[in-house]
Amino acid sequence: MNKSSVRVSLSHLDELWFQVSGTRCNLTCQHCFISCSPHNRNFEFLSRDDIQGHLKQSAILGVKGYYFTGGEPFLNPEMTDILIDTLQYGPATVLTNATVMKEEWLSRLRIAQEQSRYSLEFRVSIDGFSADTNDPIRGQGTFERAIRGVTQLVSHGFLPIITATRTWPDSEDQLVLGAFYKILKRHGYKHPRIKLLPTLKIGAEENRNGGYSKHQRVTSEMLKQFDVTQLVCEHARIVTDRGVHVCPILIDSADSLLGNTLQEAVDTPFNITHGACYTCYQYGAICSNISTRNLATGIEA
Ligand code: SF4
Ligand code: SF4
Repeated sequence: MNKSSVRVSLSHLDELWFQVSGTRCNLTCQHCFISCSPHNRNFEFLSRDDIQGHLKQSAILGVKGYYFTGGEPFLNPEMTDILIDTLQYGPATVLTNATVMKEEWLSRLRIAQEQSRYSLEFRVSIDGFSADTNDPIRGQGTFERAIRGVTQLVSHGFLPIITATRTWPDSEDQLVLGAFYKILKRHGYKHPRIKLLPTLKIGAEENRNGGYSKHQRVTSEMLKQFDVTQLVCEHARIVTDRGVHVCPILIDSADSLLGNTLQEAVDTPFNITHGACYTCYQYGAICSNISTRNLATGIEA
């Protein structure tokens, strides 16, 4: 296969992501595609100063929105201040497991959100609608803790997007969504927003369930009728403590590092030859905030 034929260039830097807590997480989920854990120091925290520098630069480049991921972002001791800073530049989304949040942080963030012209979104990962379905993947007691986190967020006026990674057969999606609705409503979240995600067969998930076959690759033929704007690498980049990478999914791959500066990374196209690119091709929009009802599955969530 001619690599250049599956090359994706950035059309415009619409989204800027930050690997704000590196690969450190208080959990050790069995399917984590970058194998985060309390002890994984592969990528380190980003500092508030680092992020402020990138925010200034991003404003010049016309970035429209910011995303914070890890690991668990709220392990970074500067996280609340970082989000408050970001709300001066644009809408911010933070991807969290919601198990370590403090009331004081949420109160400050509520005030910052009200004073900003931009929105603050929380995406909360819960991978099952009960302890029995969630905890085998995310760890004992994590369902209860995450539901408590959702309740905290709702009580502070936030409407978190619940993201659930599909570790069940596709045919059970409706059943799972229905069960999620019921449990979230029971905990006071009246109109829950839910997004179902495919697993990415890399990192810990590769050990749990196997990786991609050599045939699971995007080809130039497949791209002929494909809307590449669905791919996050077409309109986003991510900052880690090593530099700027192509997307939040591939930071562990050496070729994902595109430069030291945003400008270098914006100017560099990427060959979407990884197995994970095949999942992006199949499902599209997996990194965006779009809820499940808007995905190709057509399922209302
Ligand atoms: S999936 Fe999320 S919560 Fe789980 S270990 Fe990875 S970063 Fe942490
Ligand atoms: S994993 Fe997805 S977002 Fe990342 S480079 Fe491949 S296609 Fe693009």
